[in-house]
Amino acid sequence: MVIKMNVILAQNLGFCYGVKRAIKLARDSASPSVRTCTLGPIIHNPQMVAKLAAEGVTMVDDLSEMQEGTVIIRSHGVGPQVYEAAAAAGLEVVDATCPHVKKAQMAAHDLAAEGYDVVIVGEKCHPEVKSILEWSGSTAAVIESVEETQQVKACGKLGIVAQTTFSGEKFRLIVATLLDRANDIKIARTICTATDQRQEAALAAARQVDKMLVIGGKNSGNTTRLAQLCAQVCPTEHIETAAELQPAWFLA
Ligand code: SF4
Repeated sequence: MVIKMNVILAQNLGFCYGVKRAIKLARDSASPSVRTCTLGPIIHNPQMVAKLAAEGVTMVDDLSEMQEGTVIIRSHGVGPQVYEAAAAAGLEVVDATCPHVKKAQMAAHDLAAEGYDVVIVGEKCHPEVKSILEWSGSTAAVIESVEETQQVKACGKLGIVAQTTFSGEKFRLIVATLLDRANDIKIARTICTATDQRQEAALAAARQVDKMLVIGGKNSGNTTRLAQLCAQVCPTEHIETAAELQPAWFLA
């Protein structure tokens, strides 16, 4: 069957700066003589994780699985304890934490150090959010919806940090409901522009088409969010590879 159709690509797509940087650092670290592992998947993209494994960069879930070699910290980042544990184990560390994530980690750290009650606006189970939480001294509250802002008590000083890939619009709504909780409020809007740009570009493309394909890891929060946003505008499929394409999707 031949299906003719116009294909429009979103203006901003593909791996972001932080992910490209992490993949390059991982590739550059591969060595035939030194065991090189990422701590967790370098990105939430099974195809790229498999490619790196074939190039000699495998993965461990926990530092205890490594007695020697090089450990690569992925773009999501980790808490300070992981750097300490890696140093104590004598491992070489290649830090591929995205600089935007570092900024969010340091914002949480500095706000906590300055005596602010810290709120992280983000997904509780996301590794990046866990790392930001650990940099706050594990004292921050993590909330991801306007409803959950009820958990934030009135206080003297309130500091707010965002997960880098959080929805800009949702962040704005959550912050708006927190404005009456303290007189001294510091907001670190640590959402990275790559996320904003991809979300805007995906929505703009979705408005022009009959069907949207969002291609990326199904375990990726970023890609899943893009698919959810597009689904609000037009029928959308989230796929990882061309093998998942179904002709029936494109029949009028
Ligand atoms: S913070 Fe932005 S640039 Fe960095 S890895 Fe995440 S999406 Fe990519």
